[in-house]
Amino acid sequence: MRKSKILFKKAFNLIPGGVNSPVRAFRAVGGNPVFIESGKGSRIYDVDGNSYIDYVLSWGPLILGHAHPQVIKAIQLAALKGTSYGAPTPLEIELAEMVLNAYPSMDKVRMVNSGTEATMSAIRVARGFTGRDKIIKFEGCYHGHADGLLVKAGSGATTFGIPDSPGVPKSYAKNTITLPFNNINAFKNVIQNEWKNIACVIIEPVVGNIGCVLPKPGFLETLRKLTLSYGIVLIFDEVMTGFRVSYGGAQAFYNIKPDMTCLGKIIGGGLPVGAYGGKKEIMSMVSPEGPVYQAGTLSGNPLAMTAGIMTLKILSRKGVYEKLERMASLLEEGLTDAAKTAGVKTKFYRAGSMFCTYFTEKEVIDYPTAKLSDTARFSKFFSAMLKRGIYLAPSQFEAGFLSLAHSVKDIDKTVKAAYKSFLEVK
Ligand SMILES: *Cc1c(COP(=O)(O)O)cnc(C)c1O
Repeated sequence: MRKSKILFKKAFNLIPGGVNSPVRAFRAVGGNPVFIESGKGSRIYDVDGNSYIDYVLSWGPLILGHAHPQVIKAIQLAALKGTSYGAPTPLEIELAEMVLNAYPSMDKVRMVNSGTEATMSAIRVARGFTGRDKIIKFEGCYHGHADGLLVKAGSGATTFGIPDSPGVPKSYAKNTITLPFNNINAFKNVIQNEWKNIACVIIEPVVGNIGCVLPKPGFLETLRKLTLSYGIVLIFDEVMTGFRVSYGGAQAFYNIKPDMTCLGKIIGGGLPVGAYGGKKEIMSMVSPEGPVYQAGTLSGNPLAMTAGIMTLKILSRKGVYEKLERMASLLEEGLTDAAKTAGVKTKFYRAGSMFCTYFTEKEVIDYPTAKLSDTARFSKFFSAMLKRGIYLAPSQFEAGFLSLAHSVKDIDKTVKAAYKSFLEVK
């Protein structure tokens, strides 16, 4: 940890909190972040020469594992031709086609540079399309850091106990209605009076930003039915779940067709990408086809498109998601058993290859029940795992991820480390 500590001290004087995204600072677990030198497959290597089995995977994008040889090779070849043109390329068509084929709810898609941009733009388009101002989101769902979306927004905010961020004008937040996840009655009550003002409902179909909270049977279905009947645009934020819980995302997994979808993370193959898309009549609102402005100097960047295309090509091979499912259920069994044998009360949730272990006895169904988790115990567990070479997200309120590079041996090692760590935090 010596070099990591020196680097963090230096970074602290140059970058706010020493990091370029808050949760990386390890504040929630009271530690010093490890500085990473490189990654390969399921592993990351820090500047002090330690290796870890990685369950963060850059917060979700690296479903193939670190430095996948085919992805790296493709990026190298693309880079030799040039890094950006600010003009159309065939690569954008190729990735758009792959995305639209995988998500039949979308007729058209626009590439952007991050998940934040995707949700921010999708909401603008939904407002332009409906001529309405208000939006509905759900407690604990994170949709990036755009103003107006930083209301009860999960992980980062939850971790730091800041429900709203200073710097967001009240007049913005005023247009955001926040409702409890998995509570269809609360939703019905609000739209009965408010529907005329509501442009869209945005939701993480599986909430990955307070751990991993699954939708109750019927919840998403009823949302779909009601939004359709009131002319409200339903936006699935699948930045995390897209190509993760299945190739077709949560919408294929739960068989629901939203009006708009936001993507990011995996479709960039480890480079900065986001995307939003939806029905033809909605997407034809987007400039230059329509009047809703949205643009980007580096949008559709050839390196990012190339990494995304290669990643999706590999993901669309036969048996890939079956393999992820097998490995994830192996991990689920292992972690659940380890906690039980060690005598620690936990609840484990999983959607495909994203998962979370909560340190609580109660079922986790929404934001308040997620917050019942014993975060002090989680912190100890996190450090105990790190010490044993297992890199978990440094917050209770984050999902963990598996990649195709994780082996049975990795999982065995993880489960053994978890058993010892559970004993330590008992
Ligand atoms: C990560 C994430 C975002 C934000 O994406 P960035 O690329 O970090 O801006 C938005 N929505 C969800 C569901 C996410 O998981």
